[in-house]
Amino acid sequence: MQHRMEETSQSQGERGSMMESTREIPRSVDFLKSLAPYKPVSSLTRIWNNPSEVPFKLDWNESTVPPSPRVYEAIVQFLSHTNHLNWYPELGSVSLATALGEKTNLDADNILVTNGSDDALELICKSYLGPGDQVLVPMPTYTHFLVYVQARGAEVVPFFSQDLFDADVEHLQKAITRETKLVYLVSPNNPTGVTYGKDELSLLLSANPGTLFIVDEAYFEFHGKTVVELVKSYDNLVVTRTFSKAYGIAGLRMGYLCTGLSVMMELKKLFNPKSVNRVGQIAAMACLSDPEYYDRYVEDVTRAKEFLKKELGLRGLPVVTTPANYVLIEVKEPVRFCHLLEEQGVYIRDRSTLPRMEKYVRMSVPTVDQAHEVVRRIDKVLGQMA
Ligand SMILES: *Cc1c(COP(=O)(O)O)cnc(C)c1O
Repeated sequence: MQHRMEETSQSQGERGSMMESTREIPRSVDFLKSLAPYKPVSSLTRIWNNPSEVPFKLDWNESTVPPSPRVYEAIVQFLSHTNHLNWYPELGSVSLATALGEKTNLDADNILVTNGSDDALELICKSYLGPGDQVLVPMPTYTHFLVYVQARGAEVVPFFSQDLFDADVEHLQKAITRETKLVYLVSPNNPTGVTYGKDELSLLLSANPGTLFIVDEAYFEFHGKTVVELVKSYDNLVVTRTFSKAYGIAGLRMGYLCTGLSVMMELKKLFNPKSVNRVGQIAAMACLSDPEYYDRYVEDVTRAKEFLKKELGLRGLPVVTTPANYVLIEVKEPVRFCHLLEEQGVYIRDRSTLPRMEKYVRMSVPTVDQAHEVVRRIDKVLGQMA
């Protein structure tokens, strides 16, 4: 009590002549002034409020089927031990990093398991960016990354390729200057599906040794191609991946990054080794133990992609397929189309407000069986729009 009173009188003394001014509130860092609170657009609340409807949640590129049954078995087994939830998780997710090392052909030392890959992206920004630093970002892309850049007071420098659906690496290279601290490449890019191959990336990495490149491979499992082996030969590359898309455990927030030892040393200065939860660690291990299950799922999605392209094409809706688990659909009235589809219980993402995406909506690709039903519901909407 005594202590509190002292504090109060001291701070009043400091304010002194400011007595008439408006009430003082804590101030966040200056860089946050230009940012608005992130308003997540997710269909979850609507889905929960409509328990009788069979929903198709195709707006966030999550898996449309549950994860491998082994995930449930492993979690149940874990929970059957009395002392497991009250203990901290395995520090640094060492077992999972070792398993991921085998999967990626890297050493466990090259892998950092994070609380979703968003956490990896944020860690990189926190460790490498400060006020005024420039980050080159091909647009349109995964917008959440941009917040982490701005939160450091760094500057997003947008890059527009000549063709929306082509990486245009030649011009990208020309856009990189000595001031470019970081380049963020999503491969396959969300939402355009643009990819960056090993050869073209090698050229960028060797031409710009002082620039750090992030390659976000959130959709690697669907694409099947990766640049991850370049981590062994280049010190300026970080590859990020996630368990939220193909592996179907978005709700558990599991991701990881792969990088060389010099970048890893920097990242580990700020990394919190207990930020990844124990249930997530267990689930991710179980995912990795069941590659057959996930191969089948990816094949199913790949067939559904072609099915949707053909069926929607026949209905006058051109589809741009991507190497990932989403397609772009060209529609005349994107907002209305999404709204009417929502009334049918199909939730997709209007992307028409992104630069150069005026015509497009984005839809996650479900399984073939599910795609048949989705097309039936789209038919109802087309009837209403006619
Ligand atoms: C979905 C997505 C992520 C987010 O992954 P989490 O692991 O769930 O944080 C990251 N990058 C891209 C490009 C994505 O589409």
